[in-house]
Amino acid sequence: MSYITNTKRCVKCILPEQYPDIQFDSQGVCHKCHEQEAKYINRDYEKLGRELDGIFRWAKAQKKRYDCIVPFSGGKDSSYTLYLCRKKYGLKVLAVNFNNGLRTPEALMNMENIVKKTDCAYACYGPNWEVLKKLYREFVLKAGHFCFVCDMGIWATIHRLAEQYDVPLIVSEFSSQIESRGPKIYSYNNKFFRTIASEVVDTSELKDFLEETAVQKILRRFRHGRFTRYRRQISLPDYVVWDDKEIKDTIYKELGWQKRADGSSDHIDCLFAPMKNYLVVQKWGFGEKTTKYSAMVRAGQMGREEALRRAEAEESQDVSGHIKVFLKELGLSEQELLQAKTRSHLDYL
Ligand SMILES: [Zn+2]
Repeated sequence: MSYITNTKRCVKCILPEQYPDIQFDSQGVCHKCHEQEAKYINRDYEKLGRELDGIFRWAKAQKKRYDCIVPFSGGKDSSYTLYLCRKKYGLKVLAVNFNNGLRTPEALMNMENIVKKTDCAYACYGPNWEVLKKLYREFVLKAGHFCFVCDMGIWATIHRLAEQYDVPLIVSEFSSQIESRGPKIYSYNNKFFRTIASEVVDTSELKDFLEETAVQKILRRFRHGRFTRYRRQISLPDYVVWDDKEIKDTIYKELGWQKRADGSSDHIDCLFAPMKNYLVVQKWGFGEKTTKYSAMVRAGQMGREEALRRAEAEESQDVSGHIKVFLKELGLSEQELLQAKTRSHLDYL
């Protein structure tokens, strides 16, 4: 029996007992299920829709060149967000992509195609590939994972462009209902990033990954004599129903969106996505898909049996080909990759 079936799990979703800080009630239901139920049980989407209309009216009333920025990777959710912002809400959108050096051919094709179809302005920024590689490598060695680099780079790029074009609103696509950030233990901060990154890159290269502090922002605006008004940042799934099936139907039909060559439609935008999953499984004994599918089961968008089946299939996939490429690209040894599971970013917080 594999670890998928040979483990104690929440009877409602599929979170396993290895999930950090998990608590089961006397019926065997996990604390995440209770948290989500309390949050979403009486969600008034009509009221939230009115709130959202108000935010968009406010953004348009600023009369800037762009009403909002949408972080755009060519993946499923960011494509849908772009679609809604342009086609449903009629916003002037600047789609912003961070080139992490790992974009897939499918993601690039989707971006090219969808930017045209939605008639959006588009900006892309990417740090030097050698800088990115050094950082990915260092974070695997020190913190056991490489995704911090991209996460930091995306938000630093978005905020820099928002300042540059004086954009009043940022509309992202993270659904806390059907995605999962994983355990609270995953969270991190600027100090942690700077501590590790400054070992391998210089101060100017570091700027691509760190947002300005409030003081830096004020000083720069003062120097340029420009005082941008208050900027808002929202996540669209906090206001509208975020249904995986409806999202896929819409983007296939309206945008000609392409999934990955292997048929997968999740996290298609990163060449190292299988390695992300591999490192998580190695460290925690369960993969990202387990938290994602658990969230979908709670939201009623996937059956529990299907979630178990898909998590098992995806988490036991043979990634030896990906490992080979990953080690070669980053100049890591097999031993160093194995040791990644003993490293934690928590030592740097
Ligand atoms: Zn649960």
